[in-house]
Amino acid sequence: MLTVGGYTRVSDVGRLGDGRDGNEGLMRQREDVYDLAKLMRCNVHRMYEDNDTSAYKRRVKRNDFEAMVIDLERGLISGILAYNIDRIARQPRDLERLIDIYEQARRPMVFATTAGDYDLTTADGRFQARIHVTIANKFSADAARRVARQKRAEAIDGRPHKGQRAFGWMDSESLDEREAELLVIARRDIINGKKVATVHREWTELGIRGPQTPPGKTIGYTSVKYVLRNPRLCGYRAYIPQEVRERSGRVDPVEWLIERTDGTPVKGQWETIFTPDEWRELVDVLDARKNTGKGRKVGSTVTKRLLTGIARCGKCGAGLASGMYARGTTSYEKYGYYYYCRKADGGCGSLSRSGPAVEEYVEEALLGNLKDQARAVRSAAEEDLEPAEAKATLKQIDADKAEARRLRADDLFSLAEFAREMRRLEEKERETKENVSGLSVAPVRTGSAAARIVREWGNYTIDMKRAEIQKSIEAVVVKPVGKGGAQRGVFRPDLIEIIWK
Ligand SMILES: [Zn+2]
Repeated sequence: MLTVGGYTRVSDVGRLGDGRDGNEGLMRQREDVYDLAKLMRCNVHRMYEDNDTSAYKRRVKRNDFEAMVIDLERGLISGILAYNIDRIARQPRDLERLIDIYEQARRPMVFATTAGDYDLTTADGRFQARIHVTIANKFSADAARRVARQKRAEAIDGRPHKGQRAFGWMDSESLDEREAELLVIARRDIINGKKVATVHREWTELGIRGPQTPPGKTIGYTSVKYVLRNPRLCGYRAYIPQEVRERSGRVDPVEWLIERTDGTPVKGQWETIFTPDEWRELVDVLDARKNTGKGRKVGSTVTKRLLTGIARCGKCGAGLASGMYARGTTSYEKYGYYYYCRKADGGCGSLSRSGPAVEEYVEEALLGNLKDQARAVRSAAEEDLEPAEAKATLKQIDADKAEARRLRADDLFSLAEFAREMRRLEEKERETKENVSGLSVAPVRTGSAAARIVREWGNYTIDMKRAEIQKSIEAVVVKPVGKGGAQRGVFRPDLIEIIWK
C-alpha cells in the first residue's frame, strides 16, 4: 500500500473565481481526497493544507505545498492526491518541480485527482498534466481580473478592504487604541521635526509590531514610513491594482487614492485617526524631507534658531531674532549666526551676541536641571524612610512587571494587553513612590520622563528642543556688555540670565 499526501487549498482568488471555496470547499476537498485514497488503496500520511493562498500569485508562498515537496523528495510520501490538479499547481513551474521529483524517483509513485490520474513518469502523462495546469493558469488570470474589478468596485463604494488589518486598526473597521495613540504622537512629533528613524527606534523599544511583521521581530523602518502615509488614517480609500502591487512590491498608496468623478477622494466607512487635513500635513512634511534631504519644510523662509523669541534683550526686553554673519568674515567662520535685538520687532536694536555659545550654555543648564529632577525622584523613592509595606508593594510591582514581560514574550499577552498592564503597574509604582517619599507636591515631570529627555536630547530636533526649553524656562536674558567691553571671542556666562518657570 502506497503512502501518499493529500493536498487541499482554498484560494482567495477562488472565492470569487470558482464555486468550491471557503470552509465548505475545504471540507469537500478533504472528503474527496480520503474517498480517492480508499479507492486507490493508499494510506494518507497527512493532509497538506494551504488556506487562503493562491497558487497563481507568484509572491504568495504556500507553506504546506513546500513541506509536501520536501516530504516527496525524501520519500516520506510516494504521491499526491487532490481534488483537482489546479489545487496542486496553477503555475507551470510548480508542476515542473513535481515532475522532476517523479522522474528521478526509483519507486512507484502516484499523482491522482478526482478528475483523473496523471502518470508523470511517462511523456503522455506529463503532457496532459501540463495542458491542464496551463488551462487552470489561464482561468486563474481571468478570476484574478474579476476579483480586481470587484475589489475596485468595493473600494469606490468606500467599503473597507477585507483581509489583513492595517496598522492602527484591530480589524477592517475598529481602532486599535494603542496603535492609534502611537500614530497620533508620531504625527505630532514628526511635524515638530522628529525624524522617522527616531520614531522607528522608539517603536522598536516598545516592541511594536506591524500586521506584516514576522514572528519574533519588531516593526521595520520602511513599515513605519508606510503606515504613516496610509491614506486610511484619515478615511481616504486607496486602491492599488494587483498587477502594480505584484510588480513593484510596496507601493505608495498616496499615489493611488480613489477619486470621485469630481476629483474629491472617496471616504471610507471606518473609524479614522486623523482628519484629512492632519494627514495631508503629515504627508507633506514627509515629502518635503524626501525632496530636500533635510528636516525643514519646503518654502519656510524664517529660520528658527533654538532661542529665537526665548532669548530676550537685556536692555529693552524684546525677544531676540537671529541673523547670519556676513560670509567671508571671521565671525561667520567661527560662529555662523548671532542673536540680535531687532528694531523692526519693536526692540532697541542695540544688542547682539553670537549664537552657539549662548545656546550651549542654556542647553547645559536645562539638562542639568532635568538630571536633578530625575535624581530627586529616584532618591526620594530609594532613600527616604520607606515603610515595609510600601517596600513590599514595590517588590510585588516588579514581580508583576516581570510576569507581564514573560507573558508577552510567550505571546500570551497581546501588545495592547501588555501595554495596558505595564501602564497600570507603572502608575501604581509612581503613586507608591510618591507616597512614601512624602512629596506632597508631585514634581513637574516624573523622574523617568526627565531622564528620558536627557537621554534622547542628542536626537531632538530644534523644534523639539525649543518645546522642551519652553516648558522649563520663561526667558533667557542676554545682558549688554558693560563699559569695559568684552574680550572678543570669550563667552561670558555672567551676561546670560536664565529665568526658570
Ligand atoms: Zn533691545
